[in-house]
Amino acid sequence: MTWRARNGRARGRAAGGVLAPVPGDDRTGAAPDVTPRRRQSPVWFFDLDDTLHDASHAIFSVLNRRMTDYVQQHLAVDEGEADRLRQTYWRRYGATLLGLMRHHEVDPHHFLRQTHDFDIAALLRAERGLTQLFRRLPGRKVLLTNAPDAYAATVLRALSLDRHLARRYTIESMQVHGSFRPKPSTLMLRHMLARERCGRGQAVLVEDSRANLKAARSLGFRTVLITARGRAGGAARARGAYVGLQLGSVRELPRAFARLRSA
Ligand SMILES: [Mg+2]
Repeated sequence: MTWRARNGRARGRAAGGVLAPVPGDDRTGAAPDVTPRRRQSPVWFFDLDDTLHDASHAIFSVLNRRMTDYVQQHLAVDEGEADRLRQTYWRRYGATLLGLMRHHEVDPHHFLRQTHDFDIAALLRAERGLTQLFRRLPGRKVLLTNAPDAYAATVLRALSLDRHLARRYTIESMQVHGSFRPKPSTLMLRHMLARERCGRGQAVLVEDSRANLKAARSLGFRTVLITARGRAGGAARARGAYVGLQLGSVRELPRAFARLRSA
């Protein structure tokens, strides 16, 4: 969602860190099941907003409105101050939520519930053919979004993609040592690679956020930037060395897959 946390660099005993449980994850702690074939096949990490659907079309403006309302109510400030705080925390921490937690002891789960409590499916806009895309694309697919789980589940159900994703990593599960570490935290991404048992070069991140791709690339992910034609700041910008592949839509992935292997 609109949470782009600062790059959370590993400090101290990163290797011993523990990610929060993943909703619906019944394999945590299970014995490794890694065959050589599986080790070689790609593991796709898909972002959600502005990657699998067009959140900029309507959803983001509703979310921003609701976040400003929340800040106004819970911090007892006027609308102008609430909007200023929301944007200040977004710039400083990459996430309104992180600023609210740090400075105002806001309950993150209450914040996420309240700000995402609207008819999401009614505002959804996405391309056709996504289920065929997921069927055609070889390898395991997981979701990796800074959005809350209930929201992600609603969007995926509406897109009929829920059954194609082996797991959902959402904001609630992006905690390391009890602290929220959303994308583009390299600490969190490192733990994610370990949890998915990804070998070097096996993981692919498909994203619209350059900051997230840059962090992932530094850890050996292959990267796909989704620019979504027509959206501001997309393809017109320089590509960046951390971008393995730049596509206008995820639907171009199967055809571009061979190029990605060598990226
Ligand atoms: Mg996104």
